[in-house]
Amino acid sequence: MVPFRQFVLKVHSRCDLACDHCYVYEHADQSWRRRPKVMSRETVAWSALRIAEHVKSHALDQVTVVLHGGEPLLAGHDRLQAVAEAIEAALAGTCRLDLRVHTNGLLLDDDYLDLFEEKGVKVGVSLDGDRAAHDRHRRYADGRGSHDRVLGRLAMLRRRPHLYAGLLCTVDVANDPIAVYEALAEQAPPRVDFLLRHATWDDPPGSGAGDWLIAVFDRWVADGRPMAVRLFDSIESTSRGGPSMTEALGLEPSDLVVIETDGAYEQVDSLKAAYDGAPETGLDVFGHTLDEVALHPGIVARQRGIDGLAQTCQRCPVVESCGGGLYPHRYKEGSFANPSVYCADLLKLITHVRGRLRRTHELTSAQLGELAAGHGSAEAVAALAAGQASLRRLALTKAAVPGPAWRLLTGIDEEHPAALAAVLDHPYVRAWAVRRLAGTAGPAYLGNIAAAAAVTAGVTAEIEVEVRAGAAYLPGLGALTGMSGTLVRVDGGRAEAEGATWAPLRRLTAEGIDVALEDLDPYRDCHQWRPAPRLTGERAAVWQERFAGAVQVIERDHPAYLPAIRAGLTTLTPLDPAAGTASSAARQAFGAVATTPPPDAETLALLLMHEFQHVKLGGVLDLFDLFDEREARLFYAPWREDPRPLEGLLQGAYAHLAVTDFWRGRDPFAFARRRADTAMAVETLLGAGTLTPLGAAFVAGMRAAVAPWLDEPVPEEAERGAQAERAAHRGRFG
Ligand code: SF4
Repeated sequence: MVPFRQFVLKVHSRCDLACDHCYVYEHADQSWRRRPKVMSRETVAWSALRIAEHVKSHALDQVTVVLHGGEPLLAGHDRLQAVAEAIEAALAGTCRLDLRVHTNGLLLDDDYLDLFEEKGVKVGVSLDGDRAAHDRHRRYADGRGSHDRVLGRLAMLRRRPHLYAGLLCTVDVANDPIAVYEALAEQAPPRVDFLLRHATWDDPPGSGAGDWLIAVFDRWVADGRPMAVRLFDSIESTSRGGPSMTEALGLEPSDLVVIETDGAYEQVDSLKAAYDGAPETGLDVFGHTLDEVALHPGIVARQRGIDGLAQTCQRCPVVESCGGGLYPHRYKEGSFANPSVYCADLLKLITHVRGRLRRTHELTSAQLGELAAGHGSAEAVAALAAGQASLRRLALTKAAVPGPAWRLLTGIDEEHPAALAAVLDHPYVRAWAVRRLAGTAGPAYLGNIAAAAAVTAGVTAEIEVEVRAGAAYLPGLGALTGMSGTLVRVDGGRAEAEGATWAPLRRLTAEGIDVALEDLDPYRDCHQWRPAPRLTGERAAVWQERFAGAVQVIERDHPAYLPAIRAGLTTLTPLDPAAGTASSAARQAFGAVATTPPPDAETLALLLMHEFQHVKLGGVLDLFDLFDEREARLFYAPWREDPRPLEGLLQGAYAHLAVTDFWRGRDPFAFARRRADTAMAVETLLGAGTLTPLGAAFVAGMRAAVAPWLDEPVPEEAERGAQAERAAHRGRFG
């Protein structure tokens, strides 16, 4: 049985508007006529008791209760206060309560907002866009529009942003999509829900919803996604293997139940559009538990995932994202075993969003050419970073286990997507996920990631975390040290634990570059090298001085490298000085460079330029096949004693481009040696015969970069020394 986690309470069954697209009053189901206007105190008490009973029997850690209608604010201040208090009291000490109200906004005033403040109720308001769009349907019974009044009430709500859940907009293709989008964005909502008008195959909508939503999506992307849009975010999430955030899409089992004003349990409210009595279960809060409701065939039918869909949907290429659309939209002549009546629109929209998703990860061929030639542009590295963000999400989704941490993360992703994205930017999150998938790391670290996301989002939470040697690391933020247990509390953007002290991750800054000095993360991947333990303040200050100096060196002598480093370097990880001189960059930790303490700024500049080449090429290899993966031969690199796989030779040659450039104009002997080594490695790669066409083009770009250097004059002595050293190396290692 899938327990319910979302409860819609119809606290008032009438409305002060007479919207002609409303599914409650204007569609097939007319049951509202038979119900009491207001939910009685007795019904409220029984509803609260049933929810609490369900929470206890399924050990739920969080539930959402939505006060709904009709228009819920018509219930009055005192009744809503009583409802909130009854639910709060019933759930006290059992689970977190996410209490919301969905309103047309017309009655919102300071009294209500004070009440919502006191009870922690978040407010969602229906707004269909600009005045023309909104007043097309949302009118009073006497024909007056409601747009102006809603905007006035929204201005009051915006003054209390912590109560503002977002806007609900019903799509009508007669409205200008861009005007609607702009009007919604102007209200600065944290989230927008676009709802398709309720329709069935027996009562179909007009065409064009797909194109309408595509126009909005394109504008939203062009604007830099100023707010969350549940529909688009869900398509992106499900396309990457993540969860859907809406009942309207995806294959996840429905976990929502409605309680009507008379205490009757009903299925999803929008079923009212199908036929009279469609949502009814025949059960009510006075005589039945929610477990009994969960076994109702209509509820079970919406929990069967892909098996519950029509054959057409089961074979559909976008079924993971679409899931057959909203259940009521599938209704046709007594059956729900059909694709959505919006099938063509959903297919078009999802295909478009997925195409756009791919394009954001695609480098243009010009950008790939810039990278092949050495340094690459900031835009090219930003495109690589966007690809990595997707890979990290995918890795996290695969590595996650269901439970409180995952639920907290998906909740934060819904409400504060930028906060989760910021945490996932930390390179070693993917390193943990890769180890978890390989079976060398446990699942508990998901709690640390969730705690970091909660801190970043300013969300209140209590979460179990992974503790190592008494420390719980929150990726990208810092560690709680001296932990005696595993429970972390997050409140007001801070993490705390019994008896623990906060050790923040330090930052290094220089010339607009801001990177983490990572000396805490237990999953920092540094290949064979041991990472340095937590640095003292004095040592950290030396790193800051060296880093600032190194960035100055790069800016002065190799300015073309700096924009890409600025766009992609996020983390500098000190290695244990016992390793002597060593540095590394791990493929699954894009953006991170690890190095032993450099003796001076010049050395660190060289190491950064060298290792950032590996970072960039790793990002390219994560997106493109540059060589045949079946290539098993080993190749000698002119700078190493041991033969290397083709990828190793490619990585070394690419890093040598930057190293050669570094010595150019600095040390004629080092330059002469490196340019010849790089050229030789490039020819070996091109002659291997196992580069893909794209790989051959990439390496040809490397060849074009090194070719002019071969013609640059160097003192004869330096050239002779370089040749002698190379001949000696060849004599020793072939
Ligand atoms: S796009 Fe159409 S066929 Fe595909 S899953 Fe959705 S409703 Fe079914």
